Amino acid sequence: NVVCVTGASGFMASWIVKFLLQRGYTVRATVREPSNPNKVDHLLRLEGANERLQLFKADLLEEGSFDSAVDGCDAVFHTASPVRLGPVNDPQAELIDPAVKGTLNVLKSCAKSPSVKRVIFTSSVSAVIFNERPKTPEVVVDETWFSNPDFCRELERWYSLSKTLAEDAAWKFVNENNIDMITINPVMVSGPLLQSEINESVEPILNLINGKQFPNKSFGWVDVKDVANAHILAYEIASACGRYCLAERVIHFSELARILRDMYPTLQITDKCEVDEAYMPTYQISTEKAKKSLGIDFTPLEVSLKETVESFREKDIVNF
Ligand code: NDP
Repeated sequence: NVVCVTGASGFMASWIVKFLLQRGYTVRATVREPSNPNKVDHLLRLEGANERLQLFKADLLEEGSFDSAVDGCDAVFHTASPVRLGPVNDPQAELIDPAVKGTLNVLKSCAKSPSVKRVIFTSSVSAVIFNERPKTPEVVVDETWFSNPDFCRELERWYSLSKTLAEDAAWKFVNENNIDMITINPVMVSGPLLQSEINESVEPILNLINGKQFPNKSFGWVDVKDVANAHILAYEIASACGRYCLAERVIHFSELARILRDMYPTLQITDKCEVDEAYMPTYQISTEKAKKSLGIDFTPLEVSLKETVESFREKDIVNF
């Protein structure tokens, strides 16, 4: 069983590669910089890597870049996409083009390779949730929801726009080309880092540890190992289909800070919000589908947060 993972050096993909190797797969891992030790050393050190990991150089913006990595694979896990949650200078060039053109680029390689039985595409809850519908504690968001690109544009949520347009383009392409695709739509992903550089979704946790005030936001959180497993199960379970929202819970940042304060009472974790206004309400995300059809048993957020912080310590990102 030969599979391809795009963007393999990233936070989430590194765990997917690790678990795929553990399960005996031969993994073709695409990276932008195969000779940069910061990007690949952690992959090359994984159990089974010597025997069954092959690195391929590929860039989302280069036509045909993924052809050789994808050709002959049974499955493709397409995770590569720029993650920039803060402000960006040029949303089209920095986020939208690599997400949308890159996804089509990868899918075109899949369409050329008859061996590919299924594509698992890492979308996001950002492609689910950003629309006019109210988000309040009694509202349950599920896989039938789609983000509205105009709504993302109005709010200048460029990352969400990139994921929304990429997922939309992906569904159109696979329907026209008869490709079996599943999307995984996680919320903010926490958990231990395998890669050496810090990624965007664990940065808010580091900010809290470093005593910064928190934003007035309510986000869903899910553990990286659960997300990686969901990708693999979505390939292995024949009856899996469509989209899968993944979230352990949705909480306001004040609550996230409280959990960390209880866990690390000697640290100066603030109880202050960046702004003096009413807290943004929470909402619910349905994970019935992921629990029922993939059998995902979500890791409690407390455990995931602890492992995230312990991995910061191991990597000397924090000193305490
Ligand atoms: P990372 O930033 O750790 O990984 C992103 C990966 O995409 C990196 O390997 C990066 O390569 C690659 N990439 C970016 N631009 C290009 C490009 N032009 N060509 C080739 N590769 C490129 O992020 P995550 O692991 O968090 O994210 C992985 C996926 O999961 C993304 O699709 C993201 O949208 C999605 N996601 C993430 C969530 C989260 O909270 N973390 C939540 C929901 C979805 P390089 O290392 O060379 O920069």
